[in-house]
Amino acid sequence: MGREAELARIAERVLNCNRCELWRTRTNPVVGEGSLFARIMLVGEAPGYYEDQQGRPFVGKAGRVLDELLDSIGLTRDDVYIANILKCRPPQNRNPQPEEIRACTPYLDAQLELVNPPIIATLGNFSLAYIFDKFGLPKERIGKIHGTVFTVSTIAGVKRIVPLYHPAVATYNAGMLATLRADFTVLATYL
Ligand code: URA
Ligand code: SF4
Repeated sequence: MGREAELARIAERVLNCNRCELWRTRTNPVVGEGSLFARIMLVGEAPGYYEDQQGRPFVGKAGRVLDELLDSIGLTRDDVYIANILKCRPPQNRNPQPEEIRACTPYLDAQLELVNPPIIATLGNFSLAYIFDKFGLPKERIGKIHGTVFTVSTIAGVKRIVPLYHPAVATYNAGMLATLRADFTVLATYL
């Protein structure tokens, strides 16, 4: 089966998913978007208000920051694949709960397997925690390791994992935008 068809099967399951209670309050699940042949997969946290309204990832304020960061290294959304830990919005954008992460991450795992990107950039703490655990990396604090490249060997090949701050932090902290810009240049060196 081609990648588009495989993704359609994943999306179909997400659209009908009730594996955690978030299905009750979501407007639209957000599966993800971008190139199924991308070299970089960006993994965010969960849909916010606008993402839930539109069914697309990173379309609010944090999304504008993300677009700018991608542009700063010569990329557009079409060059990457963007997904989240949770596919449905937590009420009031509260933190993802452990049981929600357990219920939902099989979809992210399926996307990772499908796209099989050599580079995975985590956006924010929940993404960092999940991806580090998945690839057997020790727990680390984002403040210490942001912008550092971690190399792991998997049965699907060598992967570079790059922890980044969540772009939302740059919407209320200008210094963080500079840090994110610098960290994105690290990403670019692996293109
Ligand atoms: N924040 C995220 O983590 N993901 C989105 O899709 C939007 C905002
Ligand atoms: Fe299903 Fe994930 Fe939505 Fe929960 S958040 S209902 S597990 S798609």
